[in-house]
Amino acid sequence: MTFAFDPAPTPSVAIAGSDSRFPVRRIFCVGRNYAAHAREMGKDPDREPPFFFTKPADAVADTGSRVPYPPLTNNFHYEIELVVAIGRGGTDIAVEAALDHVYGYAVGIDLTRRDLQFDARDKGRPWDWGKAFDQSAPIAPILRGKDARSGRIWLAVNGAIKQDAALAELIWPVPEIIAFLSQSVALKAGDIVMTGTPAGVGPIVPGDVVTGGIDGLEDITITIGARDA
Ligand code: MN
Repeated sequence: MTFAFDPAPTPSVAIAGSDSRFPVRRIFCVGRNYAAHAREMGKDPDREPPFFFTKPADAVADTGSRVPYPPLTNNFHYEIELVVAIGRGGTDIAVEAALDHVYGYAVGIDLTRRDLQFDARDKGRPWDWGKAFDQSAPIAPILRGKDARSGRIWLAVNGAIKQDAALAELIWPVPEIIAFLSQSVALKAGDIVMTGTPAGVGPIVPGDVVTGGIDGLEDITITIGARDA
């Protein structure tokens, strides 16, 4: 079998302390997983089952990237998130066994065209145009290790802190997220999960430098470039 033309390169994320890179298969994102953020989005945070949306695998970008201000939006937002890299697949994974499927963790930013997301939400349409655009998933190098992460998660724009919370505030912790996802799809090595953002989301504009971190993980930095369209 041959392909009609060369397939696109495999999207990947850096691995801390390694020359190898993590090959990305799919990107799943959890919606409204911190109560204070759900409230700032105008929603009541109850413990209903988590819900998911996706980004294309090639939406990943490395720390240090210049991310162009994307087309179609006038309200481009940052969302700092704990990223889980899946190293071992499975279906119907038990909560108690879920962390055995983790390859490592990283800091990521769920870049969002908020105006398009809200318009879709209000019209009962999919979120894709608000969430799944080019370079919408910058991710810092992955730190290997399956043990649950804890501590502070934060984001700053031009040095001013905008988001500052604790991973303990996650409504659905990582093991439960993995268990729920694996009931819907067969997880495979290379899948990535962005676990939701705490309160304090807001707009960014060309020239802004966005930094973020989680205790024990490598920080992320991106610069917002000019509109590319
Ligand atoms: Mn998010």
